[in-house]
Amino acid sequence: MAPRKLGTLAVHAGEEGVLAVPSLTTPVYQTTTYRFESAAEAAAYLDRPEGRWLYSRLENPTVIAAERKIAALEGAEAAACFASGMAAIHAALVGLLRAGDALVVSDALYGETTRLARSILARFGVEVLEAPLGGLADAVAGAPPNARVLLFETPTNPTLRVADVPAVAAACRRRGMISILDATFATPVNLRALEHGVDLVVHSATKFLNGHCDHLAGAVAGGAALVAEAVRVRRSTGGNLDAAAAYDLLRGMKTLELRVLRQNETALFLARALESHPAVARVHYPLLPSHPDHAVARTLLRGGGGVLSFAARGGFEAIARVHDALRIVARASSLGGVESLASIPVLSSHRHATPAELAAQGIDAGLLRLSVGLEDPEDLLEDLRQALERA
Ligand code: PLP
Repeated sequence: MAPRKLGTLAVHAGEEGVLAVPSLTTPVYQTTTYRFESAAEAAAYLDRPEGRWLYSRLENPTVIAAERKIAALEGAEAAACFASGMAAIHAALVGLLRAGDALVVSDALYGETTRLARSILARFGVEVLEAPLGGLADAVAGAPPNARVLLFETPTNPTLRVADVPAVAAACRRRGMISILDATFATPVNLRALEHGVDLVVHSATKFLNGHCDHLAGAVAGGAALVAEAVRVRRSTGGNLDAAAAYDLLRGMKTLELRVLRQNETALFLARALESHPAVARVHYPLLPSHPDHAVARTLLRGGGGVLSFAARGGFEAIARVHDALRIVARASSLGGVESLASIPVLSSHRHATPAELAAQGIDAGLLRLSVGLEDPEDLLEDLRQALERA
């Protein structure tokens, strides 16, 4: 063949032979597609895609490494990653539900999850039944015959309510229903959801799993057949995780246990200190004896998690002043990162909730949610104390 010309060299030269380098870290496979050596190899993919590569909406090695790590952390047969927590929850639900099925949901869900159920799934013939977190086992026992799936969260946002997960999972098993637990706040460090009988665990991996507030990501983990249903939805709706985000998620998860154990300790330290502060009316943290679910939390959770919330005695006006006076803690929604973040639920996560819904969940206008990061605990306490002087 004649020597290659400049345009061809620009596209192809220099890249041979670097694919098999034994890199310590998993590379970012930043590619949309994969090379086939032959038609026979392309045909082999059609016969058995496992371990073969076609197109990154379907499979990507960096994403698969993240999925395997999540499966290992959850003790799951399989896991799948998604472009966000909502994409994961959507795929898990749509993979399992058919028109005419009933979906039982806890009344204490992330707001967007409630909207997905009420305003999107309901349009496709799914009957949505809402029940209080503390009454889920009874709601499952009394659910109509078409009830197929239960979705709940633990701990919940922002009052950190903790469901009796084994009892709820067992009630689902008895009814032949599939239980899905959003364990974003707990992480596999604090809650062994699948060991307690839950069928599928979902995460906004945007939060603690990634841990650095720099990527959106989601995950579904559990039995291989159930995860495969969510993956089928992902293939058609295009919600796979990007390889660069998967790399950062992989790196973040390497320090998950270290981060969460430290966040558990700092959050408990702050919760205890805030409880005796004169400007604070109430503190919500599962490992405080004053929390309504303290008994179940102590048996179920390794730690209370990195999120707590507290209400100022002076209501919304007072908490807004505290919020505005914070110096180390950033005023931002989201949670689970290395930076401590504060948000006012009625202005952020619960801005769409009705007064009746807020009352039912014990969320008052003067509540501040704190996601505890990795800063020094004493510095964080000092920041909260100086801000509370404005309450
Ligand atoms: N589930 C919980 C408990 C959440 O807090 C969130 C987001 O805040 C989600 C799901 C949605 O996740 P994402 O924002 O990654 O789509």
